[in-house]
Amino acid sequence: MRILCTNDDGYLALGLNVLARAASGFGQVTVVGPDREQSATSHALTLHHPLRARRAPDGSWIVDGTPTDCVILAIGELLEDKPDIVLSGINHGPNMGEDVLYSGTVAAAMEATVLGIPAVAFSYTGEHYEELEGWQPVIAGLLERILARDDFPADTLLSVNLPNVAPDQVKGVRVTKLGRRRYKDSLTRAQDPSGKEYFWIGGGTTNWTGPEDSDFRAVKEGYVSLTPLHLDLTNFPLLDQIRGWGLGS
Ligand code: MN
Repeated sequence: MRILCTNDDGYLALGLNVLARAASGFGQVTVVGPDREQSATSHALTLHHPLRARRAPDGSWIVDGTPTDCVILAIGELLEDKPDIVLSGINHGPNMGEDVLYSGTVAAAMEATVLGIPAVAFSYTGEHYEELEGWQPVIAGLLERILARDDFPADTLLSVNLPNVAPDQVKGVRVTKLGRRRYKDSLTRAQDPSGKEYFWIGGGTTNWTGPEDSDFRAVKEGYVSLTPLHLDLTNFPLLDQIRGWGLGS
């Protein structure tokens, strides 16, 4: 089993290290990670300047690009053989609801899915990232059950969110759908020390809504949330209605 691990928090992030160690029990792991923080870069590609990849002392590859760049370089050039699975994360922060559309962690898994390779994205909903160390056995247990499947769905990635509890307090795994989140006061307008105006996206508070089987409810209740995501954003039930608008006539 050949396993590619990547992330969006940069190759030095503890989450990536824990993920690679958890995966190492199942095959040959290669890490190809971005050289710096790339969170919220979504599915961005670097098209307008060259990309460099260098080898870390431990054999990992470090790429000066986005998570999607990492997956494309890894599979297209850096790895001798195509991986059997791509694992992304463990992200230092949640990726639930609409956030999966901004996440570089989820996008790296999406890129693998586009390339026809099974992929799983992992995100940690707690705030104390040093505690990720203790999650290695939980991740390994989950990987063991996922890797044993011979029916991993096509065109689909699995997005896993770990609850903000101690790893030995996890109640189980729930298969979930995406919830909805609303940010409040997450855009700041202020002045810099020289009196010039600036804007800053981020911070504020988050409110979640969604049905019983939503991702945020699972983690709130102490379960690991696992959401299957497909990449086709077409709103199929609306096709006939929109065709009925007669826009082409
Ligand atoms: Mn991140």
